[in-house]
Formats: sequence, C-alpha cells, structure tokens
Amino acid sequence: MSSLDPGDGFVAREDASVYETAEPVLYEVMDGIAILTMNRPAFNNAQNSQMTYALDAGFRRAVDDDSVKVIVLKGAGRHFSAGHDIGTPGRDINKSFERQSLWWDHTNKPDAEQLFVREQEVYLAMCRRWHDLPKPTIAMVQGACVAGGLMLAWVCDLIIASDDAFFQDPVVRMGIPGVEYFAHAHELNPRIAKEFLFLGDRMSAERAYQMGMVNRVFSREQLEAQTLDIAARIAQQPRLGLALTKQVINRVEELQGLRTTMDLAFGYHHFAHAHSQVLGTGALGGHDAKTMAQANKKENQA
Ligand code: ZN
Repeated sequence: MSSLDPGDGFVAREDASVYETAEPVLYEVMDGIAILTMNRPAFNNAQNSQMTYALDAGFRRAVDDDSVKVIVLKGAGRHFSAGHDIGTPGRDINKSFERQSLWWDHTNKPDAEQLFVREQEVYLAMCRRWHDLPKPTIAMVQGACVAGGLMLAWVCDLIIASDDAFFQDPVVRMGIPGVEYFAHAHELNPRIAKEFLFLGDRMSAERAYQMGMVNRVFSREQLEAQTLDIAARIAQQPRLGLALTKQVINRVEELQGLRTTMDLAFGYHHFAHAHSQVLGTGALGGHDAKTMAQANKKENQA
C-alpha cells in the first residue's frame, strides 16, 4: 500500500498549484508593533494554505518577540481580503503542510473527509488559535472583506476600517450556512446576522460601525496612520495586563456561546458541503470564483 492510499482505495488528487509569490505574508516590526501584510494583491489577497501557514508563522514570530506589544493585520493593494482562494493558480487545497493541530493529513482522503479534515485545520483551528494569541491584534481593513476575509478580521481584537471598506458573506448562495468560523451572530445581533446572511449583501464600514462590529472608521488616506496611532497607544500598556484583559474577554465570548455556536455551525457547514457533493455539484453548490463574482455583480447592480 502506498503512503497515498489510506486503505480504502482512494488515491490522492494531484496538487497543481502554482504560486505567484514565495512571500504571501510580509512581516515587519516598527516601534513595538508587528505588521503582518497579506501579500497577494493581484488576487485581492485570496487566502490559500500557503498564506494561512505564513500567517500562522507570522503570528508565532510576533508572539515570541518580546519587543512586540501589538500586532496589526493588513492586506496589500486595493482590498483587505477576497476570502478563501477558490480559483487562483495558487489554490493549493490538495497540498500537504506541516499541520498545527493533531489531525491527520487531508490530501489522500476521499471527498467529505478530505474537506472536513482540511477545514478543521486551516480554518477552524487556525482562527481559534489566532483569536486566542495573548497579544492585542488589530485588523486594518480597506476595500473588500468578504467571506473568508471576515474570519481574519473577526479573530482580531479590534477592527479599524476605511470608509470604503465593506463586509460580506455571500456563501449562502452555495447552499452553505456562512463561513467556517461562524461568529456572525456574535459579531452582529441575531436579526442583523440573518439579514447579512440571507441577502448576502455588502455591509458598509459605516453600518458595521453602527452595529458594533467595527471600532473606528477613517478615510482611506488616514487609515494606516490612525491604525498605527491606536496600536502605539495600546503598546504603552503593560504586556501582561493586556494579555490578561484579552483572555478574560475571550472567555466572556466563550461563555456567551461563541465556541459552541461555531462547533454546531461547523457540522452544518460540512453537512452542506457533503450534500452538495452527493448531488454531484462539487463542494460549493455548483459555484466557483467566476459564478460567485458574476452573481455578486448582478446583485450589486440591482
Ligand atoms: Zn467550507
């Protein structure tokens, strides 16, 4: 039996990804502030696994560096994040990586198991790990923050947006109840969360601010300077005091049911992926990056 045959006759799908960069995340430290920049601007920072593991390494580095007090997560180019990579040449869902949780490798497993194991690791486990890292994190959001992009902003402690930023989870169109890290009904009140998901419309930075999902809104020109100013002010606080404060509030979110909600939603999410596969329409309800973009365009013109 080859190492690619898990014993039920299934053979691994071939990895055909081609990366446009060896540095999907840039890392710099300035005056106690670590800045992680998602660096796939040609693809609006679509998140492949290459980027996911680079983000994880960046967060690890920032936590390990005692000179770093605050971490800022941003995206290069016009948009913060177009979400998970569902259609660039660098889409690498059939590639193995050095995993951070104790699940087995997904690449040589069939259909629903492959998807469940992969998303358990790269979405749910990673996002929870980043959400709980002990230093304050700030998402600096411009332009699109769509679907998987929401997860990256939501795991951060503060979200600071430009006035042209928008937030959107259109994946209900795929027959799936929202992205894997299901914080919708915690980030927004339940009625607004339903509207956000049912319609899949863009939520402006201004409305997200009114709903309490975003901390501050600045003009695009002011966004970086203002974000770094807020980060610098937080960096004046004692490290342990910040860490303890963050841990307490994160536990509050858990007591409010965030973790349980997410476990429940993850099961539903994978029932939806598997249902779509049983129907023969692939895991995404017959959609790909192109059809989602077309539907989105139509909606926003209407
Ligand atoms: Zn999924």
